[in-house]
Amino acid sequence: METKTENKIETHQFKTEVQQMLNLIINSLYSNPDIFLRELISNASDAIDKVRYKAETEPGILGDDTEFKIHLKPDGIAQTLEISDNGIGMTYDEVMENIGTIAKSGTAAFMDALEQAKGQETLLPELIGQFGVGFYSAFMVAEKITLTTRAAGASANQAVRWTSTGDGTFTIENAEKPERGTTIALHLKKREKDEKDFTDQWVIRGIVKQHSDFVSYPVTMMVERDEPLPDAEIIKDKDDKPIGATTRKVMKEETLNSMKAIWTRSTSDVTDEEYEEFYKHLSHDWNPPLERIHLKLEGTTEYYALLYIPSKAPFDLFSPERRHGIHLYSRRIFIMDDCKELMPDYFRFVKGVVDASDLNLNVSREILQQDRLVLNIRKNLVKKLFELLEKMDPEKYAGFYDEFGAVLKEGIYTDPASKDKIAPLVRYKTTKSQDKWVSLDDYVKNMPEDQKEIYYITGDQLSTLASSPHLEKLKAKSFEVLLMTDPVDEWVVQSLTEYDGKPLKSAEKGDLAIDEAVDEKKQEAYHALFGFIKGALEDKVKEVKASSHLTDSVSCLSGETWGMSAYMEKLLKASGQSPPETKRVLELNMGHPVIEKINTLFENDRDNPVLKDYSVLLFDMAVVAEGGKLENPARFSKMVGELLSKAMA
Ligand code: ADP
Repeated sequence: METKTENKIETHQFKTEVQQMLNLIINSLYSNPDIFLRELISNASDAIDKVRYKAETEPGILGDDTEFKIHLKPDGIAQTLEISDNGIGMTYDEVMENIGTIAKSGTAAFMDALEQAKGQETLLPELIGQFGVGFYSAFMVAEKITLTTRAAGASANQAVRWTSTGDGTFTIENAEKPERGTTIALHLKKREKDEKDFTDQWVIRGIVKQHSDFVSYPVTMMVERDEPLPDAEIIKDKDDKPIGATTRKVMKEETLNSMKAIWTRSTSDVTDEEYEEFYKHLSHDWNPPLERIHLKLEGTTEYYALLYIPSKAPFDLFSPERRHGIHLYSRRIFIMDDCKELMPDYFRFVKGVVDASDLNLNVSREILQQDRLVLNIRKNLVKKLFELLEKMDPEKYAGFYDEFGAVLKEGIYTDPASKDKIAPLVRYKTTKSQDKWVSLDDYVKNMPEDQKEIYYITGDQLSTLASSPHLEKLKAKSFEVLLMTDPVDEWVVQSLTEYDGKPLKSAEKGDLAIDEAVDEKKQEAYHALFGFIKGALEDKVKEVKASSHLTDSVSCLSGETWGMSAYMEKLLKASGQSPPETKRVLELNMGHPVIEKINTLFENDRDNPVLKDYSVLLFDMAVVAEGGKLENPARFSKMVGELLSKAMA
């Protein structure tokens, strides 16, 4: 066990990002400070879940501290509120890692989004909600926080105390703690007259009831109660009538939440607000969910499921260490969180709970993978999710697709069995529709009579793709082209080779073969020129040929039908791989006067030095048109300058 042995107080700096975020929070980002308590109770409940899971394989780790609970201790005079749990606690290293340093995945993406949202204050709560600041939200109400924690398995003098006023630094030191788990003491900020008192038992009861009622461990608090005095202590008159008090005030521990598992209740019984609160507790997302599915299945496989689709993608959607997926329970008892076996990866954004009656409580992840019951549940949940997406109203679906389309699409190549389910759900922007998503069904419906294939082009920028010279001929014929701008699309098109009987065809690779064959005589006449240009660009292109793509532009670069697309090459390079350099084909527009003029020049004087320059220029123009990087931009610009001045002379 890692512990800090010498007892001295260390002072550390918050990571810059943490401080930035704290400032946002402290500067009254939230109109609803109440939720700090929900966040701390959620963390406490997670910590208890964790120690419970650990105890399955390490019995003994609980000692005699086996009655799980979350205890709240308000003190109105001192203006403090303590939240304690007997969960898994944290070691010194874990405190350092989890609190103050942001070890969270998706931080970089979050900071980028924050930067972009500058000046748009209204966006901030939503952004922070997606990221989930959890613990730090306590700084909305506290001027100082002291967290004392003792990890499961550590002894009483191996506890750790973390303290901060949220002003850029925190201190950390050794501490004594008699019980396992974490206590968070909040020293509340001075209140304005109209602000709530978070030490008032009715305020606390209200918040717990509203936000944390279904937490599956008791949330307790000592409350003052009137208790009848024992008869012997009641002072009575001669007629045996009491004079004075018949009751006395006593402190009693009370459980504030019902702990009712929301998923076992009947759907008509649960309000939208309750569903929403449960979602927030479960997901650590502050935004309401987009959709939910609440199921109860009886029969051979008995289980409950309550699934949610978030309204916003979290920042760590593409990060491998992302968590909080499906929580697995058996008869209301928590087994594990993030149960990946219950959801395919392309539905990893789905949050929720599955409670299966017949699961063994100490089932391991390895066993789960082959468990027939689990496989059955998964199959059925996936089916329900597809049904939900299929019948979602188009506008809502577009919103869903904006957030999660890129993830859903992964299923096309990762799960061949679901390919036919996913393909109709896929949407693309197209040459004819750059603001609205187009389904493949609509695409096919709109195909002109003489169009036989579904055309697509891949790249990272919609606008560059939309104006790519490769699409000129297709546009002239009014053939729509799918503009694929997600990296995963490169893999999608490798699996989705046809839709509704129509082959998918790259608009940038190979010949389009949609026009009458290129005039052979004309081809013949240019043969020598093409050979010359190829010679001049030998290290850059593998072939020079008449284009089947172009109507207006002079030149473009295309790949071979089975070769790698330019975008794929870029993606591989960006991920640190070095794909073999693929030379591409320089296509020239036979209908363009420039090509004709160069040919005349070439036939009259094959040794003219400008011919070499023009060859390079034709190549560079093709590179620029597809948004590529020129090898020598200065030379390109100089040449264009010279040509312009000649043209204007
Ligand atoms: P989140 O809960 O969204 O991960 P937080 O900032 O709230 O983010 O917490 C960061 C981490 O600190 C948690 O993931 C958990 O590992 C740890 N943590 C927070 N509260 C507790 C607690 N009461 N007991 C044990 N660990 C905790």
